[in-house]
Amino acid sequence: MKQEYGTESPAETQALAMRIAQHLRGGEVIELASDLGGGKTTFTHGLVRALGSPDKVASPTFTISREYRGGRLHVFHFDFYRLGEAGIIADELAEIVGDPSAVVVVEWADVVAQALPEHRLRIHIQATGEHNRTLTITYPEALSYLMEDV
Ligand code: ADP
Ligand code: MG
Repeated sequence: MKQEYGTESPAETQALAMRIAQHLRGGEVIELASDLGGGKTTFTHGLVRALGSPDKVASPTFTISREYRGGRLHVFHFDFYRLGEAGIIADELAEIVGDPSAVVVVEWADVVAQALPEHRLRIHIQATGEHNRTLTITYPEALSYLMEDV
């Protein structure tokens, strides 16, 4: 299944993430793809905020992974930008992916594609202007509850 959304500000991208976040049950995997500066981390920020974690969301580019606790669900946020091969991180990721009390968000998922489940929400963000983004979201039927009224 596939849906497309246009946003005209970071706040609108975060609002979209917040609407999706309301439906999260735990155990879901969200893959975010875009060029650098597309809005993947901005989207994640909205998601984490909606789940109620007070933790500050920052780009994990130089740390590869971050965790946000204290909300309705625990969020693991991975960023594989510039990582040539997944290595040991793929093992870590595979373990977390089975955790029903956590949501996994992965930026630049290509390098770890094999460690991700088929059933995932895939969000591709295309910059169409300085403040304009088109978000194309594809997902299997089993995850359509995430996109209800979004
Ligand atoms: P990425 O994680 O994909 O590299 P970031 O979320 O770190 O991207 O950065 C996105 C940048 O684009 C931020 O500076 C943000 O303010 C800006 N921006 C402008 N318009 C939008 C929009 N509609 N949605 C998301 N980000 C936007
Ligand atoms: Mg980022």
